[in-house]
Amino acid sequence: TTILAIETSCDETAAAIVINGTEVRANIIASQIATHRRFGGVVPEIASRRHMENIVPVVAEAMATAGLSFTGLDAVAVTYGPGLVGALLVGLAYAKSLAYALDKPLIGVHHLLGHIYAGFLQYPHLPLPAACLVVSGGHTSLVYLESHTCRRILGATRDDAAGEAFDKVARVLGLPYPGGPELEKLAREGNPRAINFPRAWLEEGSLDFSFSGLKSAVINYLHHARQTGTEVNLADVAASFQAAVVEVLVTKTIQAARRMATRSILLAGGVAANSSLRQELAAAGREAGLPVFCPSPALCTDNAAMIACAAYYQYLRRDFAPLDLNAIPDLPLIN
Ligand code: ATP
Ligand code: MG
Ligand code: FE
Repeated sequence: TTILAIETSCDETAAAIVINGTEVRANIIASQIATHRRFGGVVPEIASRRHMENIVPVVAEAMATAGLSFTGLDAVAVTYGPGLVGALLVGLAYAKSLAYALDKPLIGVHHLLGHIYAGFLQYPHLPLPAACLVVSGGHTSLVYLESHTCRRILGATRDDAAGEAFDKVARVLGLPYPGGPELEKLAREGNPRAINFPRAWLEEGSLDFSFSGLKSAVINYLHHARQTGTEVNLADVAASFQAAVVEVLVTKTIQAARRMATRSILLAGGVAANSSLRQELAAAGREAGLPVFCPSPALCTDNAAMIACAAYYQYLRRDFAPLDLNAIPDLPLIN
């Protein structure tokens, strides 16, 4: 089964061709980072326009890379939410037109399910049930994956997403957008135990998250230092902030896996590219006797191969979308 998937939910125009949910024949990403950098974040209007310019060449490049013609496709998959509505609509309009012209099924994919399926793309036999930590720019959730059709949210952030916290703290540290990877680089030069930033554990037993207090603590620390003329080691601030985020994420993920007696742990979403998080979660998994699966960093951040993999499992159960499928900016993962 050969699936072309299209992803335009935020600021990357991506197209991929994946066979049977595992064999990546093409995975093309046109990033708009350079376009949005001078604004310090994604400007939705500009993102939509750039998707319009990019969508045709990006799909053409994917087809050429795979050495396929459109008639060789079995289905067309597309992200229909959550994300920026104008950005989603570009990918949707393209995918619907193509599916209609080819008379092939259209598959609507949830963006976060795509992030989760980056794991199955790389590790198709990862043992279920699994506890999946989804950490991205807009979401932070613990998801219980019982099977490919049954899942449950165990906890989620009550305020900022982990990636959002990384980006905001990076900004106050004077790092360029997008801040997450830059902050990780800076943190490598710092001492993670230099500053004891707060860990928000919330109520006993809660698997929810909160990162806005931590973000404020970093801002207050920098303000205080500036006011008192104290010299600040920015690398120490970055390392200590990262340590606080990672400790909470790892601890709650292990708790979730234990509580649900899962057979494995899966890491997903853009923040899953963070090497400290990957290392700490792997170490904690070893201690708990649970295998931890972390997709390669390039599959953790936005791409269309992960969308194609999620679509493959939907294809197997004939979970097709009508041609009037609409973009849903706040599409919930579980209805
Ligand atoms: P969502 O998936 O929630 O809709 P998104 O698609 O914008 O949001 P992703 O592409 O999944 O987000 O992830 C991007 C986020 O991951 C950004 O916040 C970015 O800073 C963060 N990120 C990427 N790499 C790293 C890293 N190495 N360390 C920390 N954060 C990172
Ligand atoms: Mg992005
Ligand atoms: Fe994403």
